Amino acid sequence: MICITKKIEFEAAHRLSNYSGACSQIHGHTYKLEVTLCGPIDPETDMIMDFKNLKLILQNTVLSHFDHSLILKDNPENRMIFADYSGKVTWMETEPTAERMIEWIVREVSRILPQGLALTKLKLYETSGSYASWEK
Ligand SMILES: [Zn+2]
Repeated sequence: MICITKKIEFEAAHRLSNYSGACSQIHGHTYKLEVTLCGPIDPETDMIMDFKNLKLILQNTVLSHFDHSLILKDNPENRMIFADYSGKVTWMETEPTAERMIEWIVREVSRILPQGLALTKLKLYETSGSYASWEK
């Protein structure tokens, strides 16, 4: 099986509201995302997918949603604290952990992949030593 992987980075801030410890404070990460998809090689292009197209898909999903945003769980506490904040906020139904963010990424990227191509593996790094991963 032949696969391709694209790596991107984005900056975002978040806080975990149900957490006792430093992660309940607003803090930022340089998230690193690796997206792998596998499929047949198109005999016309000799590619599974042009890396440029995969990058565009990630820009239109992951980056437009999360990059340079404040990612928060949509709950009354956060709605009250950030009521007057006019910057980019990405509201989630869950706490914005790497695990929940990767769930969102799998769902949204899968929706716009061309037919016949499927995600097989993702890794989302919060730090160089901590990542969440997903495998088909
Ligand atoms: Zn964090």
